[in-house]
This record gives sequence, C-alpha cells and structure tokens, in this order.
Amino acid sequence: MRGNDEPKMLYISTRGGGEPQRFTDILLEGLAPDGGLYLPEAYPRVPDAELSAMRAMGYSELAYAVLSRFIDDIPTADLRALVERSYTAAVFRSDEITPVKTLAPGLHLLGLANGPTLAFKDLAMQFLGGLFEYVRAKRGEELNILGATSGDTGSAAEYALRGRRGIRVFMLSPHRRMSSFQTAQMFSLADPNIFNIAVRGVFDDCQDIVKAVSNDAQFKSRYRIGTVNSINWARVAAQIVYYFKGYFAVTRSDSEPVDFAVPSGNFGNIYAGFIARSMGLPIRRLILASNENNVLDEFFRTGRYRARKSSEVLATSSPSMDISRASNFERYVYDLVGRDGAKVKEFWSQLDTKGEFDLSRTGYFARVPETGFVSGSSTHQDRLDTIRQVWRDYGVMIDTHTADGVKVGLEHRSPGVPLVCLETALPVKFDAAIREALGRDPDRPAGLENLESLPQRFEVVDADVQAVKACIAARCPAMDA
Ligand SMILES: *Cc1c(COP(=O)(O)O)cnc(C)c1O
Repeated sequence: MRGNDEPKMLYISTRGGGEPQRFTDILLEGLAPDGGLYLPEAYPRVPDAELSAMRAMGYSELAYAVLSRFIDDIPTADLRALVERSYTAAVFRSDEITPVKTLAPGLHLLGLANGPTLAFKDLAMQFLGGLFEYVRAKRGEELNILGATSGDTGSAAEYALRGRRGIRVFMLSPHRRMSSFQTAQMFSLADPNIFNIAVRGVFDDCQDIVKAVSNDAQFKSRYRIGTVNSINWARVAAQIVYYFKGYFAVTRSDSEPVDFAVPSGNFGNIYAGFIARSMGLPIRRLILASNENNVLDEFFRTGRYRARKSSEVLATSSPSMDISRASNFERYVYDLVGRDGAKVKEFWSQLDTKGEFDLSRTGYFARVPETGFVSGSSTHQDRLDTIRQVWRDYGVMIDTHTADGVKVGLEHRSPGVPLVCLETALPVKFDAAIREALGRDPDRPAGLENLESLPQRFEVVDADVQAVKACIAARCPAMDA
C-alpha cells in the first residue's frame, strides 16, 4: 500500500521497461523509451455508489470525476478549471456536449462530432490544448507541437491549440490528398501560431518525417518538440468520459448492460471504451467496425494480426479509418496477455520482422470474448446502403464512418440490450459520399457555409526530413545552452 502523499496513479510501458512515470511526465511523450506505449499500472475501479452519483452529473463534472482518477499530479482546482473550460456549450454546440439521438427504442446515436472540426477527436483534443498550455506555463518553456495528419487529427489539434500562448503547431499533411472541406478547415486558420506544411507525398511520408524528427534527440530538445498523435495517453483518457455519459443517457439503472458500436482505425476510441468497461461500467459488448482496411476485424475474427504494407492500404470513403496497423492496439494486447511486457515485446518483434503475429492457437485469443470485443467490417456499398436506410427509416443523416459503425452494430444487435452507435463525424465532412447515397448535399452547421472560399495559408515542401526541420528552425528560437 502506498501512503497518502504517494502518487496513486503511475504509468508503465507495455514492453515492461523503464521506471513508472507520472501523468504530466508522459503528457508530451510519444513512445516509452523501450518502444512501448504508456498505460496505467492498473485501471481504477469505480465503486457502485460512485457510479450512481455519476449518473446525475453534467459533462464537465463527469469528466472531472473520470479524469481525476488518472491525473493525480495537477492540483484539484486547476484540473477542474481545465475541464470546465474544455467542455462548454459554446464549443460543442449543446449543453450535453455529447447528445444522444434515439433512432428507435434501444437504438441510439451518441453525438461525438459537434465540436469545432465536426469529428470526435475534438473531445480529447480540446482538453489536451488546455493541458498543454497549462503545463507549458508551469515549466516556463515554449512548446512546438509537430504532427502528421490525413485530415481529422490535424484539424482537431489546430483548433485546440490556436492562439494558445507559447505554443506553435507544425502540422504535416499530404499535399492535395485531403477532402476540400478538411483542407479548408485547416488551411483557413489565420492564427500566427499555426503552420500548415503540405508535403509532396502521402500520409505515410508525413508520419515518417515526424518519426525521424522525433528520433533526433538533439533537434527535439533544441526546439522543444512535442507530439500529438493517436497514441497520446491523455487523448485516450479524455475519451473514456463519453462512454459513461452515453451509458447514463440510455439506461435508468446502473446494472443494465449496454453495447457500443465503434467505427475504428487506430483503436484509440474503442480502447477508451474498453477502459470504461474495465473500470466497472456495465458495457456488455464493444462492437468494433472496420472498413475495407480490416486489420482489426481480421484479428478479432481469427486471432491473426497482420499489418498491411502502405501500398496495400485502400483509399476508402471512410478515410479516417484507412490504416495499415492500429497504433493503440498494443495496449489492448498487453491486457490480453496478462500484462506480460516480455510477451508483448516478443509479438511486436514478430510484427517487425514478419509483418504479423498469430494468437489463434493460444489461450490469449480464447480470452477475447471476456474482454467484450466482437467485430465486423463494411464496404463502400454497405456505407451507401446504411446511410440511405438510416435516412429513410429515421430521417437522420449520418456520415460514412458512423455508417460503418451502424452497419456492424446492427449485425451484432441483441434484443433487450440497448445499442449505442458512436457518431464520429458529421456528414458535411465527407459530402461526396452523401451525394452519392442520397442525391443531395448535407446541411452545414451555422458559420461554415463559406469555409472553402476563405483564404488559405500553407506552404508546400518535398517529402524530406531536412526540409521540414528547416521550416521549424526558421520559425522558432532555439533553446541553446
Ligand atoms: C479518427 C477517426 C476514426 C477512428 O478512430 P480511432 O480512434 O483511430 O479508432 C473514426 N471516425 C472518424 C470520423 C475519425 O476521425
């Protein structure tokens, strides 16, 4: 047992190396030094009495109740203020922050896409923006955030960090490969601390450049580079909150089981659901939906985890789920193998050398049902059919990613168990598919009518690490000894 003045929450690596760390020490880190991902030493359990107290809470109070279990090195009043400033009706367009739409008895959509960039990543990123600014101010240092995006992550990060004191954002994106709406969203930001770098290449080139810059320890510390990618622990933690919120919205008592259907790519969103379940929230099933890039669905059906080559990744109409491997998956596997870091290390070294590992004939794979996961995948035609069906039957327009979740969710639906499908983006972000499915344009939220006609700010560089470093160096004073 630890005493009262000892930390109650420490973070360890999925590969078993290094010393346990505190929350703010891992906040700006990507990988742990041994190449693993950070996660809590143990998931905090929520006692029944506290669960029933949470039912009555508004979003930011609930967010504090959840996040304070994972963050114990920021004073209570400061953490409360950070949470309250992140989750406001002004930013998320409703008091509920994540409103539930009931399509039919027992069938619900959890609206996660009402933030500034109209995708669920805003929910974590808005909180992260405040946290970064807070931690930076405490340390009295400037901070330069470097990221790579294929669309949704980059815009969510820019909208969360625009205008923040002492923080600059350098966001790499593949030149001319994002949707015109996504491009306009990012490139029309006029804040002087936001730098859009369009790389002549594909998303993987952008990601490789970020990795190369992060691996240059000297450059990284000279320019105080931090990252915001999908493995960031604080992002995962902030996503746990809306599983609680969604659960309470569709149940009357704290013993009813609920299923969640989650359109998945890098496994960050659904892994947050797995943590909520591990904390004691009565989630029966976590229904994972893939698109044609079905790395995860293949694992949950067969036990074989096979990374795809970049050249094998298909460009689909749910592009935010187009992945070659799922960056947060290692955290789940760590739990699946009984938190044995040596085992994780072994599987990931097989992944590096052979491109895959296979748990099908191990006891580990037999444990998957206990963890609540089931899965399925969908095609472009399935998305169109689902968008049409939900529009026809319920008069509600959903985007392509949400459609993947609804399609697979309905396949796994059980009578008597409420099904909550996560709405991860609004249809206006991916309007070509809506026109194809419904023969009309999606509605635009107020204020975004003329987005594409605003002036755009970006610079184009070759897919070259030195060129990107030069871009950063030209805009930042170096911290020299
Ligand atoms: C990022 C994203 C996803 C995938 O979420 P993961 O956490 O990477 O699994 C799904 N839908 C939309 C709209 C997204 O932006």
